[in-house]
Amino acid sequence: MHRLLKRQLKKVYGDTLPTSPEFDRLMSLVDQGYQDFDHDISLLGRSLDVSSDELNRINANLNSLLNALPDTCIWLDADNRVREIRGADGLDEVLFHGEPGQPLCEVFSIKRCEEFMQHLQGVRAGTKPDSYDFEVNVGGDAIYVEARFTQLGKSLMLIIFRDVTIRTLVENLRTQALEESRLHQRQLQDLINSAPIGIVITNLDNDILMLNQYAVTKFNISANEVTNTRFEHMLPDTKREAYQAFLKDFLARKQEGISDARIDIVITPENADHFVAELRLSTLSLDGETIITQTFLDISERKEFERKLKQLAQTDPLTGCHNRRHYSEMAEKQLILCRSQKQAFSLMLMDLDKFKNINDTYGHGAGDEVLKVFASVTRGLIREGDILGRYGGEEFILALPNTPKAVAQKIAQRICDQISLQQIEDSGNTITVTASIGLVSSPKSNMDLESMTKIADDLLYEAKANGRNRVES
Ligand code: GH3
Ligand code: MG
Ligand code: MG
Repeated sequence: MHRLLKRQLKKVYGDTLPTSPEFDRLMSLVDQGYQDFDHDISLLGRSLDVSSDELNRINANLNSLLNALPDTCIWLDADNRVREIRGADGLDEVLFHGEPGQPLCEVFSIKRCEEFMQHLQGVRAGTKPDSYDFEVNVGGDAIYVEARFTQLGKSLMLIIFRDVTIRTLVENLRTQALEESRLHQRQLQDLINSAPIGIVITNLDNDILMLNQYAVTKFNISANEVTNTRFEHMLPDTKREAYQAFLKDFLARKQEGISDARIDIVITPENADHFVAELRLSTLSLDGETIITQTFLDISERKEFERKLKQLAQTDPLTGCHNRRHYSEMAEKQLILCRSQKQAFSLMLMDLDKFKNINDTYGHGAGDEVLKVFASVTRGLIREGDILGRYGGEEFILALPNTPKAVAQKIAQRICDQISLQQIEDSGNTITVTASIGLVSSPKSNMDLESMTKIADDLLYEAKANGRNRVES
């Protein structure tokens, strides 16, 4: 029987216990109850021992873990009093002053403690994230700190502080660099777009990667349409080969350190007017990749201006014939060509007869009109390759490449005849004029231009002497 039951029975019945089967049965049940209770107690005791061992072990592990942490950490109780401050990185000295046992705000060196406490309350309530970044100022320098909260049980809060200054600065720099590069990119894009020249950026395969507003306008095409199109598709079929050769040559010369090339080329957009472009190529290295910058300028107007200027410099303004200098250049070239091909070359000097009389009779303006008519009639009688120049006042010179004497004589005679037939109207007057021609031919073009001109001049003099309005050869 259980010792406690025995003690109770003795108190009530002394040494004599009642004898009845019911009493025996009751005693046996109560005895069993005491035994079970004993058993439970001993089990509980054992389990309590185990739990406290375990707790000690966990605590020790936690302590060694916390000691090994390279961070500063604190324990707070439910009232936010600091139980313990551990510091392994010197951050504890920056963040805290005073001893454990005080409310956090009293030992915390950060400026906005209230904000921190609000966040802490939020963490406890489960409404705020378990980390909080803040800044402390140490001797004018900012230190960035990250706090991490770990709720242990109902009241204890572990807060680990880590110095994240370098990480934050790197992140800030990266953000700043990113923003700056975006800004630079935007500025570059604006600059490129507002440039009064066409800018087309292509890769080495000449696929268009980007083009500016000027180019979009000149190609009369949307920027979306044109990207991933090859630049040479903007050129006429006949020019593509030349352009490709130019590009290839440029890229080859790039290896030799030449980074710039120039060409004038016709651009023929599908839906816009064609134009002459001065195209410049240069390369640029972008993120390790080579790109080609192709800038162009519509130089149609300039080309036209240049053409007119050239024409002006080479042409006699009154008659539209080549001036003497340009005639000489062209005739010289043709003579050399004929000589190399052993072809005949003919030359005639033509002088209007008694021209002074026309000026004197009808005025200088009428004389001018006669000169124009002579040039125009002569032009109508010669071939495209023949070279008609105004040699002096009323003296013209005509070079006939690949023309033997017999043919040249016919032409000269035709000019004489046609001029004499002209009825030139000026200020109500009808003027007629004749011309004298000295013709020289060189069967194999073995004479030079000067000698031929001299002979033609002598023959012209002869024609004058022989009565004018005639050809001497
Ligand atoms: P010839 O038959 O011997 O050639 O007689 P000519 O009167 O034609 O010869 P001359 O050399 O005496 O006269 C040429 C004239 O041509 C003199 C000059 O005033 C005139 N003259 C030269 N250039 C021009 C011009 O541009 N316009 C006009 N209207 N007259 C010109
Ligand atoms: Mg004359
Ligand atoms: Mg003359």
